[in-house]
Amino acid sequence: MDKIKIDISHEESLKQKKIMDELSKQIKAKGLKYHVSTFGCQMNAHDSEKLKGILEEIGYEATDNEKDADFVIYNTCCVRENAELKVYGRLGALKNNKKHKPNMLIALCGCMMQQDTVIKEIKRAYKHVDILFGTHNLYKLAELIQTRLETGKMVIDIWENYKEIVEDLPSIRKFKFKASVNVMFGCNNFCTYCIVPYVRGRERSRKPQDIINEIQGLVDDGVKEITLLGQNVNSYGKNLEQPISFARLIQEIEKIDGLEKIRFMTSHPKDLSDELIEVIGKSKKLCSHIHLPFQSGSTRILKKMNRKYTKESYLELVKKIKEVRPDAALTTDIIVGFPGETEEDFLETLDVVKQVEFDNAFTFLYSIRTGTPAATMEDQVPENVAKERFNRLLDVLNDIVNKKSLEKVGGIYNVLVEHINKQDENLVSGRLGSNHLVHFKGSKDLIGKIVPVKIIESKVYYLIGEQVERKEVTNEK
Ligand code: SF4
Repeated sequence: MDKIKIDISHEESLKQKKIMDELSKQIKAKGLKYHVSTFGCQMNAHDSEKLKGILEEIGYEATDNEKDADFVIYNTCCVRENAELKVYGRLGALKNNKKHKPNMLIALCGCMMQQDTVIKEIKRAYKHVDILFGTHNLYKLAELIQTRLETGKMVIDIWENYKEIVEDLPSIRKFKFKASVNVMFGCNNFCTYCIVPYVRGRERSRKPQDIINEIQGLVDDGVKEITLLGQNVNSYGKNLEQPISFARLIQEIEKIDGLEKIRFMTSHPKDLSDELIEVIGKSKKLCSHIHLPFQSGSTRILKKMNRKYTKESYLELVKKIKEVRPDAALTTDIIVGFPGETEEDFLETLDVVKQVEFDNAFTFLYSIRTGTPAATMEDQVPENVAKERFNRLLDVLNDIVNKKSLEKVGGIYNVLVEHINKQDENLVSGRLGSNHLVHFKGSKDLIGKIVPVKIIESKVYYLIGEQVERKEVTNEK
């Protein structure tokens, strides 16, 4: 098990450790199992690694089957309303399981829990839930379990704001050879469609030395690739006592021997500095993939979204990145049907997609998110109009993604092998620096290694390749 650093006062860290030790005596003896379900983004996936670390330290064993679990936890997302509905649906089904397993515990955490309306609803209609906590205090999971076991009552511990960042939590990594590291938490941007700043709080950056120490520890443990995580990594370091830019942080991280690849997400176009673009151009370790959400191609709509950049400035940014890094694969997020979006606005979005030629995109049909300014905006776009635009966007995108994927055919790329292919055990799967997924013939001893792979076929959303001798790889890091 690895130690993950997320900044905590030393006393608090010792207190949690002591509780974990106490609990492990009872839980291990009973042979209890846990199951964690994660909803939402990569930040949540990373938080779930910490939840799993704590649960294993307490003595629970992992199970892939929720029905077998004695401790079920949902790490929730509230960015979209139907993710919330899914959680309610699954909670209803868990009620039955619990009838047959009276000692089973159910916990809910994550972004949904930061909303008063949700807590009220759980207390009213889901009394079989045992523990509720939010996004700021997951390090307290062991203590919350102990309180629940001692009192027999529903435990609710939601903090409106973060109080302290916690270091030295146990964590279970999905992969031995790659890991994610939080560089900052929260967001100050208040895009008008987004609930994140309300549920994750204001921006807080971790100290550079804490981040570097954590990465050094991971590299010592066999990690080759790191993804630096934050809601808006480009504004990293601005609120530190001794401010430091994200570009400088990357340069420091790059000095770590044994670390081979660095990725980061998510970037906000308004904060992507020339200094960072220069580092993107020069870096030997940054992967050739930048995720740069543009959301809408219409400057008018971008203003309504409070994104603080224009269509032109976004395209200028892309141009600068391509100049220093012609091999950079660009991916993005796009929202269709934001309130007030006209056909002309939508055509501007299509224009950006065509001009930039994204390697891939996450596309979203705008849906009202209660609690955000956009939810109460007049001129909501009728569903049928938004859907029709959405389908047109997908048609254009599919052609471009196909074209970009075909461009990879014939090239030789360094691929970090991640796992045996789920459909065919004679194949292994891994990712290029551009983040394209590739499958090729190989065995499990390749897992965790970086090997040169020649791309022989494109299947649009994945590639087929063959391992070749190490030689000059195509211009991609
Ligand atoms: S930058 Fe905007 S979209 Fe991203 S988390 Fe912050 S408010 Fe939400």
